[in-house]
Amino acid sequence: MAKRVDEASIGTRSVWGGEEESLMQGSTQVPVVHSVSFGYSDIDSWHEVALGKKRGHIYGRNTNPTVEVFEEKVRLLEGAEAATSFSTGMAAISNVLFTFLSPGDRVVSIKDTYGGTNKIFLEFLPRFQVEVQLCDTHDHQAMEERIARGCRVLYLETPTNPTLKIVDLARLIQAAHRVGAIVIVDNTFATPINQNPLQWGADLVIHSATKFLGGHADALGGVVAGSKHLVKQVYHYREINGATLDPMSAYLLLRGMKTLHLRIRQQNQSAMAIAQFLENHPGVDGVYYPGLSSHIHHGIAKKQMKGFGGVLSFSLKGGLEAVRRFLPRLRHAHLAANLGSVETVAGPPRTTSHVECSEEERRAMGIPEGLIRYSVGVEETEDLLRDLEQALQAASSAEMKSS
Ligand SMILES: *Cc1c(COP(=O)(O)O)cnc(C)c1O
Repeated sequence: MAKRVDEASIGTRSVWGGEEESLMQGSTQVPVVHSVSFGYSDIDSWHEVALGKKRGHIYGRNTNPTVEVFEEKVRLLEGAEAATSFSTGMAAISNVLFTFLSPGDRVVSIKDTYGGTNKIFLEFLPRFQVEVQLCDTHDHQAMEERIARGCRVLYLETPTNPTLKIVDLARLIQAAHRVGAIVIVDNTFATPINQNPLQWGADLVIHSATKFLGGHADALGGVVAGSKHLVKQVYHYREINGATLDPMSAYLLLRGMKTLHLRIRQQNQSAMAIAQFLENHPGVDGVYYPGLSSHIHHGIAKKQMKGFGGVLSFSLKGGLEAVRRFLPRLRHAHLAANLGSVETVAGPPRTTSHVECSEEERRAMGIPEGLIRYSVGVEETEDLLRDLEQALQAASSAEMKSS
């Protein structure tokens, strides 16, 4: 008997969601089905499955039992009708855009989207005569005006990377629906625990599962959830395009997601404590975290988020030189280009998310050269605070010695 979880709270859905139907021979854990094809002794059943009239699997590029459980769990977490998965977050994003856009269409989005997404907007879509309008992320009125001139897709991301700006989902989604646009929201930074864009009217929600969903920095993946009608079209593009999620990765992501709610709860709490600590530290000249009342978009964040997330950024007095001294002193952080893991990860946007931008471009985006993106892990909050304190101290005393 399938254990029904649609009525359960989100943490319980993270643990149980989607698993029951795939368990085999009494196993309590989802099997990893490494099989490219699925055989049928009865040609009529085969035909019905192939036509999608009967449940089952034909070929691994299209569907797989382990991968299906991952999709079902995300579907339940986002409260969607359907979900489909991809080999990476970027595959999810590009497949969705190419599913719905044709020459002559317009896309409205923000300047602060994830670096790879920004490349699709500026480098690839224009090659197919798709017009892309990127707006200043803080200027909701300008965005509404651009949307009102007509667009096929409104593409949003909130909180943004790396300065944690927030866009008002309800407001912009309404504007987009007035002109019949499809609204797509990258919910990677917030996770389904902290924010559900579909609840605010978004048509499709995207995650890089590589980050918080998997949570252990050991598997790449992406996922899109929304109405059956739209997800079916995205699935069709993906089954042909072939950016399929691997069953082993699906298994790792599934295992990670069982603790999603616990990790996010801890990461929300630690990030808030760390943001407050840094805001009052003399070595720090700016902290970007939507949970702080000093944050420019705190009001919107409070309205649409249930928690403020595990990523924050801050800039050091002394700019890039201070960053050079500070980062290697951190004891409890990988210095790497990732986020959302159980281990804390820190790095400057100039070597990670915005490596392809020039210093001027970064400045225009409001990214100071002394900025550090800090993705809080699940270590004890006190240890992280102590670690930051000693690294800040060491960085500033080295500065005094050298000057
Ligand atoms: C990492 C990331 C992506 C891309 O995901 P991959 O799995 O690395 O392809 C997309 N959007 C956001 C917000 C991300 O952080």
